[in-house]
Amino acid sequence: MYKQVFGVSMGSKLSPLLAEIFMSNFEVEAEGNKLFPRIWKRYVDDIFALVKERTLTQTLDFLNSRHTTIKFTVEKEVEGKLPFLDLLITRKDNNKLKFGIYRKPTSTDRYITADSNHFGGQKQAAFHSMADRIFNIPMEEQEFLAEKETIYKAAELNGYDKQFVDKILRKHERKKHRRDATTLIPENEEIRRVGLPFYPTITNPLKHTLRRYGINIAHKSVNTLRELLVNLKDKVPQDEQAGIDKIPCKDCDAVYIGQTRRKVKVRLKEHRRAVEMNKTSESSVATHTVSNQHEIDWDKAGLIKSINKIGLLNAWESMYIATAKQPLMNDDDAPINLILFNLTTGRK
Ligand SMILES: [Zn+2]
Repeated sequence: MYKQVFGVSMGSKLSPLLAEIFMSNFEVEAEGNKLFPRIWKRYVDDIFALVKERTLTQTLDFLNSRHTTIKFTVEKEVEGKLPFLDLLITRKDNNKLKFGIYRKPTSTDRYITADSNHFGGQKQAAFHSMADRIFNIPMEEQEFLAEKETIYKAAELNGYDKQFVDKILRKHERKKHRRDATTLIPENEEIRRVGLPFYPTITNPLKHTLRRYGINIAHKSVNTLRELLVNLKDKVPQDEQAGIDKIPCKDCDAVYIGQTRRKVKVRLKEHRRAVEMNKTSESSVATHTVSNQHEIDWDKAGLIKSINKIGLLNAWESMYIATAKQPLMNDDDAPINLILFNLTTGRK
């Protein structure tokens, strides 16, 4: 009775964090059942599992019966082979597994070419990841050599010479030997990173200096002279940006702090209209002016933090609310309850 290798993937793509929480819980609950595969290796929502062929349908029914919202689908091995993530897993005659690198049939082996205007590290990145993989996946001689060949070919195709690959491979081979010799994490792998733009004349000397202090530079590429010389952000006027806005009262210390996804001037206009019309239901700024008979200092109202990533709006708004020294006009709590901030600022 041989075991069937199969890969499972979930129907809906949850965010990785949600998928992780959901699936961990799913596994804990399902693990006790005799139908739960004994070998079950999951990466986010892709699962590699070993199941006896005759129980495959039963196992799948079991998994799918656990929850109405997720649907598991199966990809079975074909001629003893099954791709999983970037691995090609092969079941040998003795039922042991062997590993190779899997490339999608559509893979073109196109990387940043040797003649392009990129920082050296960026050109090497794809080859470093391939080299890391070749030394860390337990491949057999044949697969190892085939993959090495593929790396050399990919390099050639993109204009790099053999020495370019030799150097990278040697580096990873040495790293592997060091790692195999100890269980300690090498000191040089606990490294901090800072992001800096790449200016060849400055970056290279700086890199060596910072390296001595355990800091690595991650390069942001500067592609054009214009990017190098012009800070494009400065070109957008303050009131045309999105972010966190602040509206102070003229007659007391109170301020309103809020987020706007649209231009701040549009958001301010809405608040202003609500104040003028006494529409307390539309703006907590209006609530403040109406209930206290105060006026707003519109000249001092405006953006306090420009934000261009929607995902950061709640965090910044909460931070400003939690750390505000003045009383707030806001009706609602901060979108994120920052317990530490609240403790330190004495807010509830
Ligand atoms: Zn006031």
